[in-house]
Amino acid sequence: MPARDRTYRTEAIVLRRKDIGEADRILTLLTPGAGKVRVIAKGIRKPRSRKAGHLELFTRTKLLVAVGHDLDIVTQAEVVEAYRPLREDLLRSATAAYMVELLDRFTPDDQENPEIYELLTHGLEWAATARDLGLAARAYELHLLSAAGFQPQLYRCVICNQALVPEDQFFSPHQGGVVCAACGAAPLDPQAESASDPHLRAGWLPLSLKALKLLRFTQSNPYPKVAALSLTAHTQAEVEAVMGRYITVLLERRLKSVEFLRLIRRPVASLAV
Ligand SMILES: [Zn+2]
Repeated sequence: MPARDRTYRTEAIVLRRKDIGEADRILTLLTPGAGKVRVIAKGIRKPRSRKAGHLELFTRTKLLVAVGHDLDIVTQAEVVEAYRPLREDLLRSATAAYMVELLDRFTPDDQENPEIYELLTHGLEWAATARDLGLAARAYELHLLSAAGFQPQLYRCVICNQALVPEDQFFSPHQGGVVCAACGAAPLDPQAESASDPHLRAGWLPLSLKALKLLRFTQSNPYPKVAALSLTAHTQAEVEAVMGRYITVLLERRLKSVEFLRLIRRPVASLAV
């Protein structure tokens, strides 16, 4: 941005807030054009602040921002979508918080990703209105993983690469996809990479055909089609467990790499402080 542009307009969703000083607040925002950014809202905690109602958590808002020395400063805010049910229903609010945290963990700072921005606007809408919040969360997870480059492999076995046939099989969180029934039943091959660490194999989860179908359908269809599905609690619980385990494994690995990157990127000067 040229130095003469002292202010700019952007839409944003409020991901996190942190109080500082007497009346200020640091906001972590997701924006369509600049990804995840931090700004400061001065005086927002004063009783008569006109900005406060427009910068609530999980609110989609239009901002006028002044370029600051350290952090940019919000000078005007106007709500685009408040997702009001998220403030009135604990379960909806918790679902939205989960969606936002997941996005926060998978998204690096200052990296533009309009697809992820759009997904969050939809995800919050689903959390605010869905009849089945579990399905809404699964749809959001699968679409977020695709947008972030971690789409699970649901069509070929991650061990033998054969196209999967319709039957009960396994899911490997560490290998990021489905393990066919034959590979699941095969004795450990000491030459195979997958067998070199028995813990990998120990982490495989059973995946029923119904659960695989639900994963595929959710991954490749828009949410309204997913929301119209009628499913047993058992299939939903199975898919929730598989996704939960896969995400945990990804985040553990990712967090380590993120920590490492931070360490090696840190300028020498700041190490001395
Ligand atoms: Zn296989």
